[in-house]
Amino acid sequence: MANRNTVLDEGQPDRRPTGNRSRQTLVGDLVSRPLPAPDESSEEYWDAAARGELALPRCAACRAFCMPPTAICPACGSTEADYVWEQVGGAGVVRSWTVVRQPFLPGFAAEAPYVLVDVELECQRGLRLIGRLVDGPTVTLALGARVSLTFEALPEGLAVPAFTLVRP
Ligand SMILES: [Zn+2]
Repeated sequence: MANRNTVLDEGQPDRRPTGNRSRQTLVGDLVSRPLPAPDESSEEYWDAAARGELALPRCAACRAFCMPPTAICPACGSTEADYVWEQVGGAGVVRSWTVVRQPFLPGFAAEAPYVLVDVELECQRGLRLIGRLVDGPTVTLALGARVSLTFEALPEGLAVPAFTLVRP
């Protein structure tokens, strides 16, 4: 029988991401946790996270935070938002959550079950950020629970913002 993968590769357009990632890295991504791939619109976010800081883009025209930065500021409608990245504290309240028991990507399987929280950040009403709750899958959660910012360390000096419950 012919090598099926070879046949598919010849008949399909190359959908591999461009950039400097090798094929070996892509194969590795199937079984290990994917790492952030910063681009022009997110580089400052990931650079700050690697330093243990949460930085968000702020519209220079109206000073509203907008994450991710969009071509038109959703707060003031400016098409020249000229975002400035500013460090924020990252404290907030839980607006929703889910327990991930069966991750879509195999790279997260070893970490399941885990909790993802949708957090409204204190720095601006309605500004939401989704992240892992590091307190574990058995923690008791409630809408409005207070959380603070923490970080999960990743390989290659990277980190991803996460949250932890604020104990009363
Ligand atoms: Zn604006």
